[in-house]
Amino acid sequence: QEDVFKKLVAHCKEYGFVFQSSEIYDGLAAVYDYGQYGVELKNNIKKYWWDSMVLLNDNVVGLDSAIFMHPTVWKASGHVDAFNDPLIDNKDSKKRYRADVLIEDLMAKFDAKMDKEVEKAAKRFGDSFDEAMFRETNPRVQENLKKKEEIHSRFVKALHDNDLAELKKIIEDYDVVCPISGTKNWTDVRQFNLMFSTEMGSTADGALKVFLRPETAQGIFVNFLNVQKTGRMKIPFGIAQIGKAFRNEIVARQFIFRMREFEQMEMQFFVAPGEELKWFEKWKDIRMKWHQSLGMGEHKYRFHDHDKLAHYANAATDIEYEMPFGFKEVEGIHSRTDFDLSQHQEYSGRKITYYDPEKGESYVPYVVETSIGVDRMFLSMLAGAYCEEEVEGKDGKKESRVVLKLPPVIAPVKLAVLPLVKKDGLPEMAKGIVNDLKFHFNCQYDEKDSIGKRYRRQDAIGTPFCITIDHQSLEDKTVTIRHRDTMKQERVSISELKGIISEKVSM
Ligand code: ATP
Repeated sequence: QEDVFKKLVAHCKEYGFVFQSSEIYDGLAAVYDYGQYGVELKNNIKKYWWDSMVLLNDNVVGLDSAIFMHPTVWKASGHVDAFNDPLIDNKDSKKRYRADVLIEDLMAKFDAKMDKEVEKAAKRFGDSFDEAMFRETNPRVQENLKKKEEIHSRFVKALHDNDLAELKKIIEDYDVVCPISGTKNWTDVRQFNLMFSTEMGSTADGALKVFLRPETAQGIFVNFLNVQKTGRMKIPFGIAQIGKAFRNEIVARQFIFRMREFEQMEMQFFVAPGEELKWFEKWKDIRMKWHQSLGMGEHKYRFHDHDKLAHYANAATDIEYEMPFGFKEVEGIHSRTDFDLSQHQEYSGRKITYYDPEKGESYVPYVVETSIGVDRMFLSMLAGAYCEEEVEGKDGKKESRVVLKLPPVIAPVKLAVLPLVKKDGLPEMAKGIVNDLKFHFNCQYDEKDSIGKRYRRQDAIGTPFCITIDHQSLEDKTVTIRHRDTMKQERVSISELKGIISEKVSM
């Protein structure tokens, strides 16, 4: 699996999806650039989200708020005081870790080690994994698993109580139970604020310290009244926004999974007090269906309800996707109560309430949030789509191909138009088709190399359809259309192309 992930990262670079930022200067940690196909894929993901949230829901409208906001916003939201991660350094290796992530890693390594032991025992006794796991003759594994359970509950409690000393102790204890990290020389755990700051303007009194937003949500909250009044919105309604967010993540790893500059697609749904849990359930369901509508396989997704709720939430869940490195959060759905609007009301001194004509009263609305990372969504789609296959090549010989089985609606290029040879008017005819269709979807013209090589290039970027123009095309205005996943070809008339492809690539 790790191997697949490495291949995927290499593929992203080789085919112009994702590059390291400032690569010629050896890169900048946890910052990435999207190349020619990456940007198309990313835009398609954003459009798929925007259309399903804003265009298809009468009661959800869009917003594009600024990245810079008044510094008091982040006081009110709690980010200045509490947007921290626990940090720990190893004095021997000089490596820095996020304490909670380190503990989760240790647990995963511990599990892997135990699995190996059980597998060995199963082999020795010729029974199944489950039998070996629970066989009384395997007390060592049982004992270790019990220890792990204990550590897990200590971990959950330490996170809940924000007990930094206990987090350090858990890391040290792990080394006793299962010496994985190999080193014992840890610093204390300390809190590290994840917001980037910079200075704005310069006045006689000095410049104003401002933050790069760590989430897009606050731009929605501070505009609640503007949108509600000017749009004459009635509760329940939502405001959706797509935009950059910045977090000074302690550990930069796993490619675009955890970045310091990333993009979010967030929707804040405003409801009457007491209605929030009903809407939380509804949005959970809607969002899971949205993910599954992309056809990557239902078993790839699961909910992970939070044990530990943030101080502002009364319910929270993650939608996780099975990445090559395990099930990981792609989207968070949170019932944020009236915390944010109440805080902004208090800090700004402005009344932020809604008069509900049906109830005949005013209140501070409650909020259900859906928050998804564009980059994580991008990674999940690539991970799910990446396939290496053995196929029949020229003269019946076996060949391998790498194909991105991306859902057509988000594939960067929808159609490749390939003249069989570079003469006899075939290129002109092919270019004519591109010129007609490029207003409807992203088309690519390619005449270089053999047809087989051109198909492979399109497979590698996930193009769902290739058409070939041959001499027959000149005579009867038909072309062969090749389907990416089945590699089946059929002959269709040029006039049908727009209809056939549009049907497959639209929402
Ligand atoms: P994590 O626990 O992985 O740090 P989080 O719970 O802090 O994530 P939220 O604050 O709920 O994340 O943010 C909502 C969404 O934004 C996440 O589900 C994720 O898709 C995305 N996201 C958050 N942090 C990052 C990051 N550093 N890089 C890329 N995407 C991110």
